[in-house]
Parts: sequence; structure tokens; C-alpha cells
Amino acid sequence: MERLNDALGVTRLAPSPTGALHLGNARTFLVNWALARQRGWRVLLRIEDLDHPRVKPETIDQTRAELRWLGLDWDDEVPLQTTDLEPCHSALQKLGRAGLIYACTRSRAELLLSAPNEGDQTIRAAAADRPAEAGQPIEQPKTTSTWRLMVEPGLCCVSDAFCGDHQIDVATDCGDFAVWSNRGCPTYQLAVTVDDARQGVNQVVRGDDLLSSAARQQCLQAHLRLPTPTWWHLPLLRGPDGRRLAKRHGDTRISRWRSGRPDRLVGLLASFCTSGDDPVPMTASAFLETFDIDRVPRSDVIVTSDHIRWLDA
Ligand code: GLU
Repeated sequence: MERLNDALGVTRLAPSPTGALHLGNARTFLVNWALARQRGWRVLLRIEDLDHPRVKPETIDQTRAELRWLGLDWDDEVPLQTTDLEPCHSALQKLGRAGLIYACTRSRAELLLSAPNEGDQTIRAAAADRPAEAGQPIEQPKTTSTWRLMVEPGLCCVSDAFCGDHQIDVATDCGDFAVWSNRGCPTYQLAVTVDDARQGVNQVVRGDDLLSSAARQQCLQAHLRLPTPTWWHLPLLRGPDGRRLAKRHGDTRISRWRSGRPDRLVGLLASFCTSGDDPVPMTASAFLETFDIDRVPRSDVIVTSDHIRWLDA
């Protein structure tokens, strides 16, 4: 059965063009790609350009070029998310007709438009704050309103092929989360749910800061009668202070090392996929030959100044 699923596997590399590729997302993409190529999954590239204010269009080409430079490839690229919002709109209508959403008039600053990566402030929209009309069926939800999904209390089990089972209560985690923004477009949660389903994605590999989002996406999948993909949430790369690797830890953008060959970079990322191995330069195809998902540490990886020195050498 596993073989059959693998043969029909479809995954996606889903960068957000909100900034340059950095060590953290490069490592996730490398693992995603290697898992896919080892198991014969189809690989889609999906540039997630819904995050309007933070999208930097110039990083779209740069991201493609940097993925290629690392040695990764994909079988197809799907259109940019913003060019095809109709399927998300019809999902919104379905939720509206089922009386599952309500228009929320709370401030723009509270919108959950972007992927709620760790460190973002998650809003908790409690059931007690719903407007009186919440629960009424809505035939044509206005696309200029913010719509929130009514979340019922109860545990949702996210079964992850890499990090095991997690029980998450979406009502206490974030409450009624936004599925549509008053800027006229779906939020990350709705878009990713609809796109994964319509693009046949059944293997989702990403950072474990999105584990709680998987529970929200499972709520939407249940309401929209869409399949749940197999999740693979990987631990994050962190700085020496234990916080998620970011600008505050210095420049870890891939562009910093692009004048040379990618072997040292891939070698370092490969060493983060085994416990205790020293990095040795290697190509992505050499990584593919030795990569073993069962050896990937279950805990977060600390990136130190020694690692950066190794890359700079
Ligand atoms: N585009 C998202 C990001 O770069 C990934 C979302 C996902 O994999 O579901 O964080």
C-alpha cells in the first residue's frame, strides 16, 4: 500500500516571495526534494504570492534561480496563486452556504493573511465575540469583507509521518481563524487548503512552525470534503539563542554564498539531517543517494558561527 501511495505521491515546494531564500527554508526544500525524488513523488513548484504587503516580486525569479543553484528541480510550476483565485472564492461560497463563516469587522492589523510562522502574533477570536448573525447561511459572501470560520472546541489529531501524532484544539489555539481578507483575497489557510487539494498534493513537507496550521487546514478539509495530505513537519533551524534563525542572527541568505559552488552549502544542510556528522561538501544528487529521513534529528538544529565560518571558507 505504501508503495502504491508513493508512486502516486505529489508534493510541492511552496516558497513565499517575501524575501530571499535562507538557510532555514533551503534545508526544508532540500529535504522535501530528496524525499520526493527517493520515493518517486511528483514535485510542483508553487510560489505563494498571496501575502501582498510583504511580497517582493523581484524575489520570485531569485528564488527559482537559487533552488536550481542548490541542485533542486521540479516537474512543473503551477501558476502564481494570485492569478487564479476562483477556486478559493467558490470554497468561500461553500463555507458561506453551510453557515460556517461570519463577517468580522475587527481591525486590519488582526488579519491572519500570512502564514502564521512562529513569532507572529496569533489572534484568538473567541466564540463569545462572534456577531449575533454568526451561523446564518450566506449565499454570496462579499469579497471585500474579512470572513472567519466558526471553530468548535475539541481536539483535532494531526498525524504526522515525521513527528508523530499531535492533539491540537484549534478553538483554544487560535479560535475562529480568518479564511478571507477584506483585501479581496483568501488567507494563507484557505489558499493552501484549496491549492493542495486541487493540485493533487498529498505529501506536505514544511517547517514544524506550521504544525498548528495543519490542524486549521484539517478543519477546512473536513468542511470542504477535501482529503488530508500526509504531513511531514520538520524541526526548525535556530540561532545560538534558541530563537528561529532570522536576520537578527546575521545574514544567512543563500545569495551570500552564490558566487561559489553550492557544495559546501548543501554539505552543511546535509549535516543538519544527521546527528553529529561533520559537514563535507556534496552536490544535491550526492545528498539524495545517502539521505535517510529516519536519521533526521527530531529536535531543532542550532546554527552556530562555526557553521557560517565553514560556509564562508
Ligand atoms: N509559503 C509558506 C512559507 O514559505 C509555506 C506554506 C506551506 O508549506 O504550507 O512559509
